[in-house]
Amino acid sequence: MKCKICGRPAVIKLPAHNIALCEKCFEEFVLRRVKNAIKTYKMFTKDDKVAVAVSGGKDSLALWDILTRLGYETGGIHIHLGIGKYSDESLQKAENFAKKINSELTVIYVRDFFGTGIPEIAKITKRKTCSVCGTIKRYLMNRFAYEKGYTVLATGHNLDDEASTLLGNLLYWKDLYLARKGPVLPSTHPKLIRKVKPLVFLTEREIAAYTILRGIDYIYEECPHAAGATSIFHKHVLNEIENYSPGTKLHFLKGFYERKNIFARLYPEETKMQHECKECGYPSSGEICGFCKLRRRVKEKLENGRETTTA
Ligand SMILES: [Zn+2]
Ligand SMILES: [Zn+2]
Repeated sequence: MKCKICGRPAVIKLPAHNIALCEKCFEEFVLRRVKNAIKTYKMFTKDDKVAVAVSGGKDSLALWDILTRLGYETGGIHIHLGIGKYSDESLQKAENFAKKINSELTVIYVRDFFGTGIPEIAKITKRKTCSVCGTIKRYLMNRFAYEKGYTVLATGHNLDDEASTLLGNLLYWKDLYLARKGPVLPSTHPKLIRKVKPLVFLTEREIAAYTILRGIDYIYEECPHAAGATSIFHKHVLNEIENYSPGTKLHFLKGFYERKNIFARLYPEETKMQHECKECGYPSSGEICGFCKLRRRVKEKLENGRETTTA
């Protein structure tokens, strides 16, 4: 198997693009795909200061590596979730990588805000772990990207992530999610940072190959709370379709992005945050934002718990 571009021995076959590539040409292919996504969806420019949401996993570290190589001004933000050993190891991987590329990493601890980690917060509020975690991560990422002077927040969602969520949302006709979904979530308030997904044109397999070739050390373990049985199944189904007819996944997602206004039109006012939270000053749909409400509940509960144990 020879590289289609330079004729050297190929290291990877890309059926969706009908090519095989050598190490060097594959790396260039990856950089080009990301550059393309950034340009196509007008994600950001060289004037922006890009915050990368870094979990310590392969997608976020690959994203940070790629954006740095493309010459963008970047920095990482890592949220320590307080999920035992998993969180400590994730932080370690993020810190090591920041050192390796000589870039700034901002680390935020959930326990500094709640006095405890995600599993306990979910238990106290009787909410699903992944839903509570999502609310907290979204809030902290936005707030600290803003406070640190970043102009855009980039996350490591890849083609498999986006195509499988899209499939799930279509199967159950979740119009509101479909209306909001896209490679760019524009800012609708001065304190709400634009969110972008520069890896949407790359599959999980392509990103994994890239991290191996680049010697990027990431956390292999999935979050122990990762429920997502359904989303894993949807990824599997899409891979079956992809094997049968290569290129379908990309076609499916790109086609949706071209038509997404059909759904966005259904909820013209939905994305507007009218108020500012009375407690933290960040955009909110009500008087107190979801994050601060959550924080109050957890604090009350923890303080009551302490009183009863000391009495
Ligand atoms: Zn080549
Ligand atoms: Zn608030």
